[in-house]
Amino acid sequence: MSNMDVPNSVDFHCHLDLCQDMRAAYARCESARCLTLAVTTTPKAFARNESMARDGRFVRAALGIHPQLVAQRASELSLFEELAPSTRFIGEVGLDAGRRFYSSFERQKLVFERVMALCARLGDKVISIHSVRTAKQVLDVVEQVGIHRSCVPVLHWFSASRPEIRRALDLGCYFSVNEQMMTAPTGQKLLETIPLSRVLTETDAPFQSGEFGGKFPGDVSGAIQLIARAYGMDQSATAARIRRTAMELLTV
Ligand SMILES: [Zn+2]
Repeated sequence: MSNMDVPNSVDFHCHLDLCQDMRAAYARCESARCLTLAVTTTPKAFARNESMARDGRFVRAALGIHPQLVAQRASELSLFEELAPSTRFIGEVGLDAGRRFYSSFERQKLVFERVMALCARLGDKVISIHSVRTAKQVLDVVEQVGIHRSCVPVLHWFSASRPEIRRALDLGCYFSVNEQMMTAPTGQKLLETIPLSRVLTETDAPFQSGEFGGKFPGDVSGAIQLIARAYGMDQSATAARIRRTAMELLTV
């Protein structure tokens, strides 16, 4: 990234290809100068994201295999393995122990362990990790494969006890935070425990729900406001710190 490409904002986890108009979503992030990690949910989706990201300056496409789809898409694991050496950006991967997905949990674990071991071996990956109700299991895998020694894990929707949050910090994890998370006590607790230097903003568009359901990719001003308040800082200093962190991680 040259000096010309200094971003205005950061969306470290969103699904541009699942928005109603994918091309418009890419264009929106580019024109807003929003440094964006466009995660994908299946390896088959990576190529079209990668080609759109290549045309712009602010969006990075990530290669993913989503835990909620692992039951149907485990067969695409070989495609994931084939593509992984071609990109620094991985996501969305992870574990989901929510009620709807618990039946596939053992399969999710096998896939996640294999993906993480591959990333550790290849090195230099930035990995957006879904960790809904699975803080301990995700961190166990991070630690077992030693991913933190060669890659940067970024935990998405992470909620955990204080000791688990501290464990994640010790393992070098970053945390991407959206507005909906911050309205729950778990989100507040997270920010009370981690330094701002490990925080990134995200929208998870189009998947926040309730009053946050209408968020567009890059629409992080509400999240910045809440993060700034949690750290007792002004919003522009908060946004600047988050931009700097994201640039360090996403600059190719
Ligand atoms: Zn997501």
